[in-house]
Amino acid sequence: METELIRLQADTSGQDFRLRVLRFQGSGNAASVYIQAALHAHEMPGMVAIDRLIPRLIEAENSGRLAGNVTVLPHANPVGLAQGLNGETLGRFDLNSRVNFNRSFPTKPAKELSGKPASERLKATLIDIAIQSDVVLDLHCDDEGPLYLYVSEHQLGEGHRLARALQASVILTDTSTDPISFDLAVGNRWAAESRSDDARFAATVEFRGMLDVTPALAEQDAEGLYRYLAAIGTIVDELPDLFTEDPIVGHVDAAELIPSPAPGALLYDVDVGDWVKKGQRLAVVLSEPGAHHEEIQSPFDGFVMTRRNQRLIRRGDDVIKVLCHP
Ligand SMILES: [Zn+2]
Repeated sequence: METELIRLQADTSGQDFRLRVLRFQGSGNAASVYIQAALHAHEMPGMVAIDRLIPRLIEAENSGRLAGNVTVLPHANPVGLAQGLNGETLGRFDLNSRVNFNRSFPTKPAKELSGKPASERLKATLIDIAIQSDVVLDLHCDDEGPLYLYVSEHQLGEGHRLARALQASVILTDTSTDPISFDLAVGNRWAAESRSDDARFAATVEFRGMLDVTPALAEQDAEGLYRYLAAIGTIVDELPDLFTEDPIVGHVDAAELIPSPAPGALLYDVDVGDWVKKGQRLAVVLSEPGAHHEEIQSPFDGFVMTRRNQRLIRRGDDVIKVLCHP
């Protein structure tokens, strides 16, 4: 394993960021893989899974079982990691530009962006590194949610292989040509540089919720990533077949975020993973104790994908995501 520290100039004097890139050298020409965690700087499940994966990658590299190069960025966002407010690392939006760290990706390489803010140069740097690999996995998590994937619709087959390895319960497919997220921006750059072919695959992995950070889940998710690397031949290992249920597959537009019509305390009636019927009460919002509450109903039959991890909400806040699945 070789460690590269990429220096990223901050936007103020006297500061620099460091991006840590771990490179594992494969001995064959199997698929090369790029894995990054915590692009949303406060999302820890992917980072702790990578911590458990690294010893396995070192062992595979040292024993000659690594057949393709693997590049790992355990924490992809030192810019966001440095931004805190009132004791909390916010992580999702750049506090300076207010732009989501997983949106608005530059189309140019980092070397052409020297005068741009650090968050833009960071995004370009990540894409510059990622597009060198055949497979790109961007590890995130939701507020509260199951293990689920975002993949382009035309890559659903490979999405199923990844879902089997990780034991993901849902795959959301995207047909958009607008490269809004990291995995889609990587796909766009591959296409722009005529690197797109059937061997290239990029996905966003949502490793459940913000608080699903435990030794057991880290181990399980490292095992899942290892299993996927073995499934695509990047690691040479014969693993017994895993029994997994087929994931629920839905289009990203069928997963609807439902906003609250009122502010107040949020009381959920349903949990992540529940099946619900159209009109079923999902939550109660208590605006004025003893006087007023509002109910939030499901707009269709479906599957509860995600919930907020806060229980005080403002009017118009999205509080629950239901995947329409008649
Ligand atoms: Zn995220």
